[in-house]
Amino acid sequence: MTDTHCHLDHMEPEEAQAALQAARHFRALLTIGTDPVRNRQALSWAEAHPRVFASVGLHPTEAHLLSPELEADLAHLAAHPRVRAIGESGLDFYWRPETRAAQYRALEFQHRLALERGLPLVLHVRSRGGEAEAELARWLLQHRPPRFVLHAFGGHPELLEAGLRLGGYFSFAGPLTYRKNQALREAARRVPLDRLLVETDAPFLPPEPHRGRRNQPAWVVYTLARLAELFGLGLEEMEALTDQNARTCFGLDQRPSGP
Ligand SMILES: [Zn+2]
Repeated sequence: MTDTHCHLDHMEPEEAQAALQAARHFRALLTIGTDPVRNRQALSWAEAHPRVFASVGLHPTEAHLLSPELEADLAHLAAHPRVRAIGESGLDFYWRPETRAAQYRALEFQHRLALERGLPLVLHVRSRGGEAEAELARWLLQHRPPRFVLHAFGGHPELLEAGLRLGGYFSFAGPLTYRKNQALREAARRVPLDRLLVETDAPFLPPEPHRGRRNQPAWVVYTLARLAELFGLGLEEMEALTDQNARTCFGLDQRPSGP
């Protein structure tokens, strides 16, 4: 099993240790950085655990922090051998509608960095009426990043079409298991088998039957089970498939040359 998106740095150290212990049978976990301090925390988890890899980036809600120094810092961290993705980046008009211009600058910087390093770009998107999703779809079609992940994909129709057209990866989280999310499950059904990923976004977005609790990587199994059911596959079959997709997307088979 693989959790392609969690935030170990958003857990207390004991909570993260327990979560890693509960996920000890996993093939890999990606812990995702969101700002300069958290990027370093993500990297230290990846240095300490052979199955943990890191992504470094600047979350759209932190995009106003972008500066030449921060760009240099990100470029420096991106060269670390345990870093397998750039982000999370993207557009968030839900929490930060006022920093739209900065979010685009941060997105474009991270896109260039991902290209330079040959790494996938991890994308977050959120808004009230779907305007960030529609804008991200247009941005993708213009910039055509060669490898990207729509993290915690929410099913927005334009984003689905753009992602399908460009061969992006769609990463599904706990909301896939929520009873009311039938439209999301219908969108998921349209994703080619070799573009499916699963994640928890832990400690956020807990799946059924753990809603209201703090999420953990081990619970990715609930989303995986729902996805398997959707495609009419066995759990183990879907597990092997999404493990392989994660290895391809994030280059996890490359020998970690880091500490
Ligand atoms: Zn996240």
